[in-house]
Amino acid sequence: MLLHPFVIGEKYRRPQLLEFLGSKQQMSGVLWGNIQPGYLICTSGGRHGKQAGYKDEALADGSWWYFGQGKQGDQLLKNAANARLASENLVILLFTTREPTAKEVAQQGGYGKLMRFEGCFCVTGYEHFVPIEGPRKGDRLIRFRLVQVDTEQATLSWADETQEEGNLYSLREMLNKHIKELPEKSVGTREFWRRSREIRRYALRRANGICEACGEPAPFKDQAGLPFLEVHHLHRLADSGPDKPGNVAAICPNCHRRAHLSFDRASFNKTLEEKVWAAESKILADSSRGGTSNQVNDYDLARDLSAPSSV
Ligand SMILES: [Zn+2]
Ligand SMILES: [Zn+2]
Repeated sequence: MLLHPFVIGEKYRRPQLLEFLGSKQQMSGVLWGNIQPGYLICTSGGRHGKQAGYKDEALADGSWWYFGQGKQGDQLLKNAANARLASENLVILLFTTREPTAKEVAQQGGYGKLMRFEGCFCVTGYEHFVPIEGPRKGDRLIRFRLVQVDTEQATLSWADETQEEGNLYSLREMLNKHIKELPEKSVGTREFWRRSREIRRYALRRANGICEACGEPAPFKDQAGLPFLEVHHLHRLADSGPDKPGNVAAICPNCHRRAHLSFDRASFNKTLEEKVWAAESKILADSSRGGTSNQVNDYDLARDLSAPSSV
């Protein structure tokens, strides 16, 4: 559930972005702040000309390569901006910049870069890139793969997905396998949504028509006659993307609003997370008692249970 004031295609000024985040960063291309800790604003353009030997770019599938921060030498993940990009749980608000035209400068009565909002994205991985020419030639740069999450795909009905083959245990095994593959390998748009559907399907199976937050039956049936629940990601504002089984909950629309909008959302999410761990522990115990013919390959539930991260 993404809540921000920006409209795709509209142009904004830097102070508006800083105000939204509660940030005082003046120079950086990657912005963050205390008011909206779930968001990271990435700006692109102006920085990387063709002559630089590398540039941010939109790919054919709608995803982006976005270069990390670090103006000299190798780019490192310990850089504060790169570390945030690599965390994968933040939602990226992507803006592209360009120099204003002479006409715009005249109209505005001054020189100031305009930033066009491109949409909300998730980071699906990163890779190293070494330019073969330009001033950064030979430097080991980092480029992050961004997949857009505020597209139509995000609002499609998931009903048909719940009818696909595969039991809870085999779905869980598949999800854990994918999580292990991240983030060494970045994921494109198609694979991102395929994995989104897997984790949704899993959460809906686990909930079995009962809201995992309030314990009430789903409020209505969808057009396919299946109980309607929404899938909420506990550590991410965008309710999409690949994730661990213990990081998602299938909840009723009312509880979903509460998880994102209520004054007590932090404690509400914390309690929900505990309920999800309990459900996951039970599934794990059932499977080890022979609840399935498939060997359940756990990603590391014990570690997750012992080290809960905050919402
Ligand atoms: Zn509920
Ligand atoms: Zn949610």
